[in-house]
Formats: sequence, C-alpha cells, structure tokens
Amino acid sequence: MENELLRLKQEAGEALENVKDAAALEAFRIQFLGRKGGLLTGVMRQLKSVAAEERPRLGQLANDIKQAVEQRFEEIKAQLGASSPKAGSGATDYSLPGRFLPFGKLHPVTQVMEEICSIFEGLGFAVAEGPDVETDYYNFEALNIPPHHPARDMHDTFYVTDSILLRTHTSPMQARIMEKHDPPLRYIAPGKVYRCDSDITHTPMFHQVEGFLVDKDVSFADLKGVLTSFTHKMFERELALRFRPSFFPFTEPSAEVDIACVICGGSGCRVCKRTGWLEILGSGLIDPEVLKMVGYDPDVYSGFAFGLGVERIAMLKYGIDDIRLYYENDLRFLSQF
Ligand SMILES: [Zn+2]
Repeated sequence: MENELLRLKQEAGEALENVKDAAALEAFRIQFLGRKGGLLTGVMRQLKSVAAEERPRLGQLANDIKQAVEQRFEEIKAQLGASSPKAGSGATDYSLPGRFLPFGKLHPVTQVMEEICSIFEGLGFAVAEGPDVETDYYNFEALNIPPHHPARDMHDTFYVTDSILLRTHTSPMQARIMEKHDPPLRYIAPGKVYRCDSDITHTPMFHQVEGFLVDKDVSFADLKGVLTSFTHKMFERELALRFRPSFFPFTEPSAEVDIACVICGGSGCRVCKRTGWLEILGSGLIDPEVLKMVGYDPDVYSGFAFGLGVERIAMLKYGIDDIRLYYENDLRFLSQF
C-alpha cells in the first residue's frame, strides 16, 4: 500500500510536468484525480481494508500526496489559463457565432492615385516607380536646376546629406527613365514626395503623379489633348481647361492648368476664391536642356511633362477643404470613400 502510494506520487508528478495544454491537463485529471476510476481515488478507497493500526499513518500519507498533486495541478492549470476542469470537455462551444473581423479598404488618396494611373494607362502611358530617397542630381541638376538656382528655394527640401535628399517631386523619374530608354516614351510616375511645409493645403509628405511623353514632333497641342481627356475622365464631365503661362526650370514653355471650378461651375465661390477656376497641375514642353542632359538630340525629339498633386485632385473630386483630414486616420472620414 505504502509503495503503491509512493509510486503513484512519482508517476503523477512526472505526468503533470509533461502537461502542455488544457486537453492534456484534463486527461491527467481523469486519470489520477477522477472520482470514478481515478488512480489516486482508487488507492484512497483501499485504505478501508488496511489494518486499523496502520490506517492513520497511511491515511495521512495518502492525503498529503493527494493535496500535493492537486496543488501542482491547480498551478499548472493557472499557467495554461485553462477553465474549470469540470467544464473542460465543453469549454469550446462550436455553435457560438464567429468573431467579426472588420476589413479595411484603400485610403482615398490611394484610390484616387490608382484612378489617375488607370486613366493614363488607358491613354497608352506605362507606370514606373522610383526611390523616395533621391540624389540631388536626379531631383535637381538633371532637371535643369543647378546648385544655387533660385527655383531650389521653392522646394523646402529635406536633406539627408549634402547630396542625398527626400525627393521633392516625382520628376526625377523623367531623367532616370530617359537615361535608360530611347524615345518614343510615355510614362507616368506616381509616388510620395516630401517638403518641409504644413498647413491646411500642405502636408510634409504628399503624393504626386509625374507624366511625360517624348517622341518626334510632340507639340503643346498634344499636351493639351492628353490633359483634356484626363480631366474629363477624372471629374466625369467636360470641364473647361485654362492654360496659364508659368515657369518651371525643366519645361519651356510652361503652363499651370486650371479647370472650371467643380463646385460652382465657373460662376465664382469660396472654394475657387471667386475666380471660377481651380489650379490642378503644372505642365510644359520638356526643356531642350533636360533632353540634352540624357543624350537626346533636341532638334529631333521633343516632349511634354506634367505633374499633378494627388491630394489636390482628391480634394476637388470629393469637395474636401482640409488636406490634413487625409492623415488624421479618423475612420468616420476615411470610411466615406
Ligand atoms: Zn467655385
């Protein structure tokens, strides 16, 4: 009897230390502590048949062993986070409804960027992406903006080192693509750009889509045609376009493009500051200097380029007046798109 108790104590101890999950713990409970047929319970019952003078000592021993095993059992149960052993077999209720996993959708800026890309792809443009961390050469010099050029002041650049920076526009892709390929080229380059600027119409990071086309005999009329088709598709109506003379170092001539106000239709309102027009992008014919930098002959090839702000287009399309709403991650705002 005594030997059997000591053997059981050792067996139960070893079995308990090997328990790895709630199911194994429950199996242990049934094997050793179960009221019917549990090994420890069985031995305790045999106490009745033990000689009367031996009974107190063996009873004490049996109780001590049972308590020790039960205490260790409770400790392991707590470690496993298991529920009450009695509820063990019914702990999982397969009839309960499943857990609802909310699924997200694309950010409005991403949606608009994808829409812009798909419109230009429909016009025969290929999509190319480039690095956010750019060299001074591609961001400025290859675009006809040498060191100390006053146009650099407009860019509020984040510099990493003297010659490495966060790109201030997606235009560096023009030079990168033209260096590698010969005309004819039709590309758009969507992506993030960075400028040290923040207010209701500016964020330090925003999105641009750069587009350009290089071929023989490309004229300003081609630029107007492409941008007109684009705005009509983007805003789903035939809005009037206005090209205003402007200056960019990498295009000549250059023009800023306005569309008739999407809110008032041109009669004048708060959004268009009573002018009836909204600026949507910058554009122009690629400066011959830029073509020369990549080894193209400007007497043979010409091209146009344009750059548009994705947040700006999205604000106009959806009538949003504060750009910061896009980046506050308020689901009440974002779930409307
Ligand atoms: Zn207006």
